[in-house]
Formats: sequence, C-alpha cells, structure tokens
Amino acid sequence: MGAAVLLVEDDPAIGASLRRALGATGYDVAWAQSGASARQQLAIAVPDLVLMDLGLPDEDGLDLCADIRSDHPQLTVIMLTALAEEMDVVVGLDSGAVDYVTKPFRLAELLARVHAQLRQHRARSGAGALGPPGGPPPIVSGDLVVDVGARRVLLAGVEVALRPREFDLLARLARDAGRVVTRETLMHDVWDEHWWGSTKTLDVHLNAIRRKLGEQPGEPSRITAIRGVGYRLEISSPEG
Ligand code: CA
Repeated sequence: MGAAVLLVEDDPAIGASLRRALGATGYDVAWAQSGASARQQLAIAVPDLVLMDLGLPDEDGLDLCADIRSDHPQLTVIMLTALAEEMDVVVGLDSGAVDYVTKPFRLAELLARVHAQLRQHRARSGAGALGPPGGPPPIVSGDLVVDVGARRVLLAGVEVALRPREFDLLARLARDAGRVVTRETLMHDVWDEHWWGSTKTLDVHLNAIRRKLGEQPGEPSRITAIRGVGYRLEISSPEG
C-alpha cells in the first residue's frame, strides 16, 4: 500500500496533474481544493504527507500549515509557493518537517522531494523498536526478515547492521519480493536524484548487502541479479 498524501491545491489544472503524477507513482492521494476541505479530510484520516499550495481561496495557507503542525507534529508538510516573499516566510517557519517547492516547479523534482520527505518520515517514525501500528508487515525470505516499518533486518533472528541506503535498497527489493525490480526503478526510488549513465553504485551497494547477509561470491544468493535488467529478492520458505 502506498503512502497517503493529502494534496491541497485550488488550481484545477495543477491539482489534476499532481494527483495523476502522485497516483501513478503509487501514492494514495486525496485532493482538497480549499483550506476548509483540507481540514475536513484531516479530521477523517491523517495522511503520511501534506503537499499544499500556500495561496488558498478561503484562508492563508500559512495558518493551515501552522494548525496542521500543531495538531499533528509528526506530519510532514511540503508547501508550494509562488512568490519569493512567500518562500522567505516559509523558510522562516520553525520545523524540520516543513519543506517547500517554488512554482513553477518541475514535476520530477517535486516527486523526488515528496519521496525523500516520506523516506525521512518513515525513518523518524521507525526509530522505535517496533513498526508503527498498521505499518507494513515484515517481509520474510527464508531466514531473512525485512521489517520496513521498524527499519530492521533480521538474519536468523540476529539484527543485521545495514547503512541507510543499503536498507532502503533491500526494502525496495522486499516490497516487490519475488519479482524483478529494474535498475532504473531502483536508482529512481532509492537514490531519488537524477543520475547520469552509470548505475555502478547500485551494484556496489548490492554487494555490500550480500556481504552483510553472510553470502560468499559465487554461492547462491537471496538476491538474484538479472543481467542488464535488475535484481530480484527471492521468496523462499525457511530452510530445514
Ligand atoms: Ca492557489
């Protein structure tokens, strides 16, 4: 299940294009076209991230943002701002959980920002020993357990110390366990910046994960490389 995003945007064209793009990326999008509608939506369900226009028809977006931040301190907010002055105000806001993007924006850049914020959000909320209630169930591949909600990897019951990027990569493979995830998808989802030509960093990280899982080069791996295409985390029943 994709992360839930509340989109607050009164401009029909921008809102429709954002909703389409976020939906195509796999997010579960609710679209509010006014501050009042956003408040209604928030009363029904708290999303993982709010992407909001600062210029709303019925209220000042900054007021809405301030209320969201005080009611839901954990919630990440990304502001869309049209003016340089607005940007200054947003930058002046307290909080590590408020980000901003200036209009006009490039869609790819905005999506990358949403993705990065959600990843940080998950890292913050996964800081405890257990995943958030209702979080994704752990993915089991033989003796390997990838608990995305809790950001933990267990091998035969013992925690494996992965670096953040290694964890993100393994978690991305685990999300589609049993299926091939292409190199391009992995680069896009795990590195989320534009990359040029070489995806060698992917193989370097993959090899590091394999080492930490106790796998030797040349021996069967839990992660199968499909040459020139991508990688697949194998689903298998526990051995023995
Ligand atoms: Ca507007």
